Order: sequence, then C-alpha cells, then structure tokens
Amino acid sequence: MEKKLICVSCPIGCELTARIENGVVTSVTGNRCPHGEAYARQEAIDPMRVLPTSVRVIGGELPLVSVKTDQPVPKRLIWQIMDHIRTLSIEAPVKIGQVLAENIMETGANLVATREVRLAQEQSPSRSALFE
Ligand code: SF4
Repeated sequence: MEKKLICVSCPIGCELTARIENGVVTSVTGNRCPHGEAYARQEAIDPMRVLPTSVRVIGGELPLVSVKTDQPVPKRLIWQIMDHIRTLSIEAPVKIGQVLAENIMETGANLVATREVRLAQEQSPSRSALFE
C-alpha cells in the first residue's frame, strides 16, 4: 500500500510517497532531504502533533490560559489527553513557559503555558462607597 503525504518540516512541502508493507514503511520517495524521510516514516505509521488548547485558571484576570505540548504527541492519544487536560486547573498568576503538567499521559511531553495570566485585580471600591 502507498500513502501520499506532504512534508511539513519546511516551507518547500515536498510531496512524499510512503510504501507500507505489513505495517512497516519500506520506502519513501519524493523527499529532497532526510527530514522528509523521517517525517514520512513517522506520519505514515503513527502521526504526531503538537497539541494547543487551554486550561482553567483560578483567581486570574482571565478564566483560561492558552497552553501547548512542548513536543508532538501521538495523534491517536489526543482525545485521551484532552479529557485529562479538561480536569486540570491552575492558580494565577501563570507565566509564559510555565509547565502546568509534566510528561502528560506518559508521552514525554510537558504542557506549557503560552501566555501570561496575572492575578485578578481586587475590586476597587465603587464611587459611592468612596464618598460615604
Ligand atoms: S523533504 Fe526536506 S526539503 Fe522537502 S519539505 Fe521536507 S524538509 Fe523540506
């Protein structure tokens, strides 16, 4: 069997063909460099993706913080990982790059914040309260 793929390792986007026999990639053609072969061998058998999503924040100026895995995780595990991420919450403040979960679902990837969330400002007294 053959699988047609586009290499996403650089902007050239070579059109790759991976030949698969008995669940093993036996050859890759169409790549202009070794990155394409490595990409096709992984993508044809067990595709990997960086997972961007968000996590609940407690006591922050925003209710959610954007996050992503710091390395690709198996695409076949993404829904399980999302179910796990939905159970997480983090207390503000959150810094960019802060690790919110290590080795998520035993994939070796950490979940890191991709933006800052400061503590929620304390409510300032209302105008009328100031003049009472
Ligand atoms: S095979 Fe090499 S040159 Fe072609 S898209 Fe992939 S990284 Fe770029």
